[in-house]
Amino acid sequence: MSTQKRDFYEVLGVARTASGEEIRASFKRLAMEFHPDRNPGNHAAEERFKEVAEAYDILSNPEKRTRYDQFGHGGAGGFDPFAGFTGAASINDIFGEIFGEVFGAHRSGQRRSRGSDLRYNLELDLEEAAFGTTSRIEIQRPKRCETCRGSGAKPGTQPRTCSTCGGTGEIRIQQGFFAMSRTCGQCRGEGKVITDRCPTCGGAGGLAEKSTVEVRVPPGVDSGTRLKLRGEGEPAPSPSGEPGDLYVVVQVRDHPIFQRQDTEVVCEMPLSISQAALGTSVDVPTLDGAHKLKIPAGTQPGKTFRLKGKGIAPLGGGSRGDQHVRIQVEIPTHLTKEQRDLLEKFASLAGEESQPAANRFWSKVSEILGK
Ligand SMILES: [Zn+2]
Ligand SMILES: [Zn+2]
Repeated sequence: MSTQKRDFYEVLGVARTASGEEIRASFKRLAMEFHPDRNPGNHAAEERFKEVAEAYDILSNPEKRTRYDQFGHGGAGGFDPFAGFTGAASINDIFGEIFGEVFGAHRSGQRRSRGSDLRYNLELDLEEAAFGTTSRIEIQRPKRCETCRGSGAKPGTQPRTCSTCGGTGEIRIQQGFFAMSRTCGQCRGEGKVITDRCPTCGGAGGLAEKSTVEVRVPPGVDSGTRLKLRGEGEPAPSPSGEPGDLYVVVQVRDHPIFQRQDTEVVCEMPLSISQAALGTSVDVPTLDGAHKLKIPAGTQPGKTFRLKGKGIAPLGGGSRGDQHVRIQVEIPTHLTKEQRDLLEKFASLAGEESQPAANRFWSKVSEILGK
């Protein structure tokens, strides 16, 4: 295999100064052209395909490419540029890469270059949920260790490329035509293992730290609303990756007098029998403060008054809903002697026209019982 090897740049048909992108584009074109599935039984195409894959394996890796440029095929000083190149496995890797791209699946290394997402449960009062607020929340978030710059290795030492997965962080399994992969157990998907741990972070590469994050809560949020704070999650495990996101999940506390139904606010308001009978004017509590409401004489229990625009705006904007004030009439349970005398006097004076519903009911009862 190592005799009469063609120059890798020649194999891929690119200049020695070709960029990574040019190498990649050329490889993709050639790999598709000589793919065994497109050339069944064509031994020459198969050999060409292997040659192309091998050349790409070296030239797509900046480290391997530099060594190849310096030392050529045989390497020098006992260095074997093909260490780790195990033919089929490497070709599978390349397959995975091409098809991952074609089918939109993640490519090797992409998954672990992003930091984890974080979740925070934020409790709010109904007023804060209705009108929006700015909350300062404290989260435990790892911060990159400055001693080792996030590598986890003791300064002056380097993490070693994982020998189990060859640094990809994944173990590929060929299943028919498709390459499947699972996370490497040795390096837990990092692709590198640390031999000398950083004394500051113990090899974790980060230190848990309390961070204060400002959360702008828009008007109209409700229990279960998820606010996404882009990039406020855990930092990326590698300097080139991007941080995760922070999800703030809203929980609205129960209000002592208001119940919420989406954009509507409902409240039950008790009146005394005299207030309901005689009529009155009351200060109704609303989310905006007290609101004068005229209660007409003869207001019945269960009657609902609507206060337009005193509800909650929908999340994302729009006009506010209404507040619904439902009347309860409280029957006195303890009467003084004087109150009792007056009520008895009232009862003796109560005429048919003051109790129309009771009259209708009892006349129906008389009809049914045939009296
Ligand atoms: Zn460290
Ligand atoms: Zn590994």
